[in-house]
Formats: sequence, structure tokens, C-alpha cells
Amino acid sequence: MTTQTLHVIGGGLVGSLLSIFLARRGFQVELHEARSDMRREDIDAGRSINLVITSRGLKALEQVGLRRQALDIAVPVKGRMLHDIEGQTTFVPYGQREHEVINAISRGLLNVMLLDAAETYHNINMHFDQRCTGYDIESKTLMFNERDEVQADVVFATDGAFSAVRRAMLDQVMNFDYAQSFLDSGYKELLIPVAENSGYRIEKDALHIWPRGHYMLMALANTDGSFTCTLFFPYEGEQSFAALQSRQDVIEFFQQTFPDAVALMPTLAEDFADNPVGSLVTVKCNPWHVGGQALLLGDAAHALVPFFGQGMNCGFEDCFVLDQLMDSSDGDWARIFEQLNEQRKINADAIADMAVENYVEMRDTTADPVFQLKKQVGFELERRYPDRFIPRYSMVMFHPEISYAEARRRSEIQAGILDRLCRGITEPEQTDWAEAERLLAEYLN
Ligand SMILES: Cc1cc2nc3c(=O)[nH]c(=O)nc-3n(C[C@H](O)[C@H](O)[C@H](O)COP(=O)(O)OP(=O)(O)OC[C@H]3O[C@@H](n4cnc5c(N)ncnc54)[C@H](O)[C@@H]3O)c2cc1C
Repeated sequence: MTTQTLHVIGGGLVGSLLSIFLARRGFQVELHEARSDMRREDIDAGRSINLVITSRGLKALEQVGLRRQALDIAVPVKGRMLHDIEGQTTFVPYGQREHEVINAISRGLLNVMLLDAAETYHNINMHFDQRCTGYDIESKTLMFNERDEVQADVVFATDGAFSAVRRAMLDQVMNFDYAQSFLDSGYKELLIPVAENSGYRIEKDALHIWPRGHYMLMALANTDGSFTCTLFFPYEGEQSFAALQSRQDVIEFFQQTFPDAVALMPTLAEDFADNPVGSLVTVKCNPWHVGGQALLLGDAAHALVPFFGQGMNCGFEDCFVLDQLMDSSDGDWARIFEQLNEQRKINADAIADMAVENYVEMRDTTADPVFQLKKQVGFELERRYPDRFIPRYSMVMFHPEISYAEARRRSEIQAGILDRLCRGITEPEQTDWAEAERLLAEYLN
């Protein structure tokens, strides 16, 4: 098996990590990436666009010896800082233990780190400027840049949410299920620059959120002292991207809606005009593989909306699980791919649904006192019954041993318990703990 050549399509976050996992087992890996080598290009944009890496992603990096290196270029984030319309702030911690933090990391720097690490393997060949433009399943032929054909017995497609390999599967595989759904909001990235004294302008160890009902602004720290802000905003309507046409519209809207943020954003109007509006898509498909010859992984298999910060983490966890399946198999790709599909699809669906639910939580309920009360009661339940009650956010972010599907199942039961315990009270101290114990024993054994 190890003399085989494997083709990985897409050298983004998941494809570069996957190549390392495969190369460690001795396979010859041909990694094809549509873009030029980002390490030779100006990666300024990459530096300021960040994402969150949590325990599932870190576990996969640990397996290939890259966890420490990733954490060295990350900023730990302990909770949400909610900003109300008057500029008053409330801090809501993510977890209640020292290590329960999430980590903000630059997408560009992480990708560069993974490509650099991949380059140290003599059995990985990287091909840049190679856009996959077709895949003929019957003849096992990949097409690049609409002209170059490559014979490929085994293909791993990590070419992102709009995967070319998945498109080929949709055209050529009988009964291939495919669904994509877009939110009616898009996003735009903006910037809070480094302070004049080269420090951070607001607390760096919090994810800042300005929740405003059907839209919100978020800010996450970069290691250089700046913050990447993301405005999640409807495309159309009274308050929407379509409604903000002029520089003055933008400034006025931000001054009225995010007054404390606007003071920190000297290049707001320029950034707003220059930066594109991105779409927020969920992609679900099935099967993820064609026998033992092609497998979709990462966003190509399951694109998520970003409100749980789990798209990449889920893709990294896919690589970890694939690696484990390779351990326990005799090199039969069809069997490995089938097992992976069976194990991961239900989990990817669960986190996809939780990510959409979290959008609603972040934009409207985080500012709600009942939400804060339930958070506090949830933490207290976890303190009292740590092996039975773990808040949903903590299960997803800090407990990789609990699958996404199990986290979803338990969290639905827990939500019902919290509803009952918090009915008619305003302070966590008023909780009926005897009733709590009874409910936990009955429903969360
Ligand atoms: C606003 C936003 C915030 C996010 N925040 C988080 C977060 O905090 N935490 C988190 O875990 N996830 C987050 N995500 C999700 C995360 O970005 C993705 O899940 C992750 O990038 C998926 O990695 P991937 O390698 O599968 O796909 P991608 O990162 O999209 O990489 C695909 C690669 O394939 C290449 N490619 C594409 N088409 C072809 C082709 N035809 N041929 C060859 N190469 C091709 C691309 O150039 C790219 O390099 C966020 C997403 C968004 C939009």
C-alpha cells in the first residue's frame, strides 16, 4: 500500500495537514493547489484574517507534532465581551477551567506553517497554479487548468466549499445527495488597527461581539496587536449591505449602531468599500466517497457557517479519524472511506446544524438576561455534576472525546432541563438544586 501515489486536491488548511498524515505513512503524495504558493506571495491579507482553533483541531495537530508551533502563533481567548448600544460591556467566560480557552490564529500563517511542514517530507510533491477543472471517475483521470490530464488511482478532495471534485461526483455518481443553503446574511471583514503604542486597543483575550438582533459585529485579536472585525449583515432590507451605499451611510450607521467600535476603526469607510461581501453557506452531501478511489474531506464534504468556529476544526478532526482508520485496516481504501463516511457524516451534520443555531444565539440571545442566567446555572450544574452536565459550547470546544453528534443530542436534553430550572427565577442562587438533581438523574444518566 505504501508505494501507492495519492493525489490531494487543494493545499488549504485541511489539504496540507492531510498530506502530512498520508506522507507519514510512507505514501507518495502529489498535492495540487489552484493558487500560487502563498509563501512566495504577499500574505498581508492572511495575516489579518483569523480563525479560532480549538481542542479538536489541536488534537489533530498534536498527532503530527505541530500543536505547540500553532499555539505559538495564536492568541488565547477566554470568553465573549458583549458590547451594548451604549458601549457598556459584559464579559461571559467560555468555560470555567484555566485551560478552557479558544485560540485566535491567522489563517495565512497557519496555512504557511502547514505547507512548510509538508515540504520537509521528501515524499510530498507540491504543485501550485494547478486548478483541478475535471475528474473523470470511470477512467480515473484528473484534469488541471482545462488542459493537463493526470492519471490518479486515489484522490483526496480538499478543494473547499465549492469543490470541483464534488461537482464531478454530482454529475457522475448515481444517487449522490447534495444540498447547499445560504443564509440571508453575508459577511464583510473590517479592521481595528494596532494602537499607537503598538498594543491592543481592546481586551485581546475576548471575542468581542456587538449583538444587534438580526445582525452583529465581531472582533478577534491578531498576534500583531490588530483585530479582525467581521460584520454579519443581511444582504437586503432596511439595515443591510444594500442600504449602505455611500461613505456617509456607512459612517452614520456605525456611529449609531456600534459607537464604541467606530472610534477604534479609523479606516472603516475605506475597508468597507474595498473588502468584498462573503456568503455563508452550509453544504451537505452523501456519500463522501467513490468506492476506494476518491474521498471528499474538509469543506468539500461539509461546509459550515462560521458561528461555532468549527469548519477547520471539523476538517482537521476528519484527518485524525482517517489516520486512525488507516491504523486498523489492511490498506483497503474502499473500506476505510466507507467507515470514515459512516463515522463522520453524522458528526458533520450535527455541527452544521449547531453552527446555524449558534448564529441565532450570538446575534440576539447573547444580550438577553435569560441567556446569561442559563449560562451561569449551566456552569453551576457542571461544577456540581461534571460527569453528567457539560454546557454545549464546552462539549464542542473543549471535549473532543464527545462527538459532535453526541454533543448535539445531550445539549438538546440539557436545554430542556435549563428551561425548567430557570423558569420564574432571576438569579442562579434561586435554582432548585434538588429538582436539578432529579432532572439530571432522570434524563442524563
Ligand atoms: C468568515 C469565516 C470565519 C471562519 N472561522 C472559522 C473558525 O474560527 N474556526 C474554524 O475552525 N473554521 C472557521 N471557518 C471555516 C474554515 O475557514 C474552513 O472550514 C476551512 O478553511 C476549510 O478548510 P479546507 O482546506 O477544507 O478548505 P479551504 O480552506 O477553502 O481550502 C481549499 C483549498 O483548495 C484550493 N482549491 C479550491 N479549488 C481548487 C481546485 N479546483 N483545484 C485545486 N485547488 C483548489 C483553494 O485555493 C484552497 O487552498 C470560517 C469560515 C469563514 C467563511
